Amino acid sequence: MADMTTARGEQPMLSIVVPMFNERPNVAPLVERIAAVVEGLPGKPTYEIVLVNDGSSDATADAIREQLQLRPHLVFVNLSRNFGHQLAATAGIELATGAAVVLMDGDLQDPPELIAAFVEKWRAGFDVVYAVRRTRKGESAFKLFTAGFFYRIITQLTKVSIPVDTGDFRLMSRRVVDALRRLPERHRFLRGMVSWVGFNQVGVEYDRDVRLSGETKYPLPKMLRFAIDGITSFSDIPLRFASYFGFVVSALAFVYALVVVVDKLFGVNPPAYTPGWASTIVAVVFLGGVQLISLGIIGEYLGRIYDEVKGRPLYLISDIERS
Ligand code: UDP
Ligand code: MG
Repeated sequence: MADMTTARGEQPMLSIVVPMFNERPNVAPLVERIAAVVEGLPGKPTYEIVLVNDGSSDATADAIREQLQLRPHLVFVNLSRNFGHQLAATAGIELATGAAVVLMDGDLQDPPELIAAFVEKWRAGFDVVYAVRRTRKGESAFKLFTAGFFYRIITQLTKVSIPVDTGDFRLMSRRVVDALRRLPERHRFLRGMVSWVGFNQVGVEYDRDVRLSGETKYPLPKMLRFAIDGITSFSDIPLRFASYFGFVVSALAFVYALVVVVDKLFGVNPPAYTPGWASTIVAVVFLGGVQLISLGIIGEYLGRIYDEVKGRPLYLISDIERS
């Protein structure tokens, strides 16, 4: 198992993977809190903290290098540019060598203290321990509403049951990580992919903190893209929207045709206004809209097929440094 060992030749018990994009002020407190929690775990597991710099434009890389000088057990993965949260997380997970891998955000919204509960469940035999947000501090009403709406839609649309109110904060056993490595898709929706993998999964509740410092890296357009990635990666129901709709419109048209014929044959009152104009316009505009939406949906999937077919690597690493 040469590829599962670190430079020191030992497989650590735990890997903690953190993707970071412009998180300079958060690096030191994050590393400190993770190390404190992990070193306090019963049985003192060996560990590594894999910090992935996702092409930050601030001094995140310098802050990480500084930590490498100060502490052991750190792995610094520097990506060649910004690849986005899900791909940076993927890079970290793929490079992690631990018997269990914890994925968490770099802004301390995911409290490292929960790792203790994760490890306890993992030792009890669970393969995936995911964190369920009981409350979310400091998130706007809009974000809470859209997130709630999205998780309910996606559970309706997909066959994979993705737990409601979970993020990517979770522990995965080695066999889940190895399974995940076999899912090569590039529009990644990790929380759904981990659900898809299966094995024994369990949730642990927690209160989500406010971001320690800096701003969210998920503004609305990025959140929307992420939501669309989630739906299109796990459901083809939107693609069938056009055909379902076709059936409904045809049925309505049939009924309307009957009405017209009956009226023509047996109708008594001549219509009081020029008949046909309003209904024609409504039908044309409405069907035009439906056709554009359907085309757009096909386009979404087509774009994804195009991206997959190119078969480019998911991310590129510029350096890996260890302490
Ligand atoms: N992140 C990243 N690359 C990006 C955007 C975000 O690695 O392009 C990291 C970010 O540094 C943080 C995590 O992904 O550690 C989650 O991002 P953020 O906290 O901004 O999302 P939110 O909690 O607001 O949903
Ligand atoms: Mg955050």
